Amino acid sequence: MTIRALVAKRLLVLIATGMAACDRDVQLADVVMVGGPVVTLDEAGVARGIAIRGERVAAVGSEQHMRELIGPDTRVVELEGRSVLPGLADNHLHSIGGGPGVDLSRARSIADVLDAIRARAGETPPGEVVVTNSDWHEGQLAEQRLPYRDDLDRAAPDHPVVVVRGGHEYIVNSAALARWDIDTSTPAVPGGRIGRYVDGRLNGELVDRAKDLVRLPPRPPMDRETEKDELVRSYEVLVSRGLTSVRHPGGSVEQYEMILELEAEGRLPLRVDFLMRAPRTAPREDLLAEMASWPDPDAASRLVRIGGVKHGVDGGFEGGLMREPYEEPWGEGGTFHGLQTVPRETFVEAVRTLNAAGWRVATHAVGDAAIDLVLDGYEAADADASIRDRRWVIEHGFIPREDHFPRMRELGLVVSAQDHLYLAAPSLVEYWGVERAGWTTPLRAYLDAGVPVSLGTDSPVVPYDPWWVLHHFTTRGTISAGVVGVEQRVSREEALRAATEGYAYLTFSEGERGTLGPGMLADLIVTAESYLDCADPCLETMRVDLSMVGGRLVHER
Ligand SMILES: [Zn+2]
Repeated sequence: MTIRALVAKRLLVLIATGMAACDRDVQLADVVMVGGPVVTLDEAGVARGIAIRGERVAAVGSEQHMRELIGPDTRVVELEGRSVLPGLADNHLHSIGGGPGVDLSRARSIADVLDAIRARAGETPPGEVVVTNSDWHEGQLAEQRLPYRDDLDRAAPDHPVVVVRGGHEYIVNSAALARWDIDTSTPAVPGGRIGRYVDGRLNGELVDRAKDLVRLPPRPPMDRETEKDELVRSYEVLVSRGLTSVRHPGGSVEQYEMILELEAEGRLPLRVDFLMRAPRTAPREDLLAEMASWPDPDAASRLVRIGGVKHGVDGGFEGGLMREPYEEPWGEGGTFHGLQTVPRETFVEAVRTLNAAGWRVATHAVGDAAIDLVLDGYEAADADASIRDRRWVIEHGFIPREDHFPRMRELGLVVSAQDHLYLAAPSLVEYWGVERAGWTTPLRAYLDAGVPVSLGTDSPVVPYDPWWVLHHFTTRGTISAGVVGVEQRVSREEALRAATEGYAYLTFSEGERGTLGPGMLADLIVTAESYLDCADPCLETMRVDLSMVGGRLVHER
């Protein structure tokens, strides 16, 4: 066959398959869902049905119109009043928690915490370190406080105990202080805090950089396949709660490659946006060396995309860097403003270096003074080469101030917000006072200021459930402190938009994700109750009957 004939034949095949595809487009859908509100967040508003073909939404509209697209092979989902929503996303999810340490996630009192530690110590040879998992918070304890050194000494006097709380704090017992030579003469750690009782004795708290005084035993090695299996299991939990996309805020090249492997093996049930972790305090040469091992800043496969680099400048609940001091006694006589975890020059140099190499930066900033520092750094990078179309990110952004908003808009920044207040409200009131706690993560203010914002959990710091997020931001309800900062609540549609469309904007995927118009990816969920009309607090415990990612069913009750 001549080349011309080959080309002609190929053309004919293309036309024929193209026409066949066209025909099917008009007539049939793979899946049709009808009989309940379909919240498209698109021009169609709330439709009564949706049709899916392949990995995309084929049509949305009236029930009758959608029923016309049902063929012999079409799967029909009768909604009977249940809603279809765009798939939810978590903009800041480290892991779903757990791990080989002592499990405190179900502890509800200090006694429960100590019992769990005592039990583990009982099966651990004396002198060996006992470590807890990090996925718990004192907000879940009846006493609403941390367990301290003296508490831990009662539970395990003969073992060094390291209670890991979230990502910013350890609490250790006397044996641990002795093991790592920490006492009242230990010099202060820049960017860290060594906690004390009112009488001056160490209370066991090691915050942020002070954690470096302790060397945790290496985690027992897990073989790669087991690790991958665990990852799949955790992703399956997430899709069962309605998440169709998650963004991992800072990981290693190995973790990224593991997720790519799962995708290649057809085992990845959701979309992952992955951020590389920047070394916090490294000089420029170390950063450049690290960057050499990273993937391309714009690397993307069907389900997995690189979304930038994670950095950080301050502590968390107990170390967010504030313009005004903490409440007493935490304010230490009006002198404690929180913790700056990286020197200004190092941070500014790092973001300029990353910008020059084409990386987007996402920086952990909790307090208002931390946001000042991030904006200064981002402005310095922008002066080298514009970042304005790159959607650089402020992670958390607990305490933005009015003067921050114009600077954020000017730089084209986006805010990655989470529901920390839902869990931690009692501590935040204690550390920062009622007014600052009530302003924490002010979603209403961000939206009114025209700053793009998305939602998530920071799991395992706050458990992964996306329905806690939607409940919290629509009511400002908290687990144990009632409603906090009610003027910052938003409507259910606004919260859903932030969790879906806002996430799509954060990840440069608004052309494909976040809303349910024709042509968009069929990432969607079916909720047991009608999202827009069910009676509060229905969102807090919403059941998800079905989750779909790219037209593929990944969860069904
Ligand atoms: Zn985090």
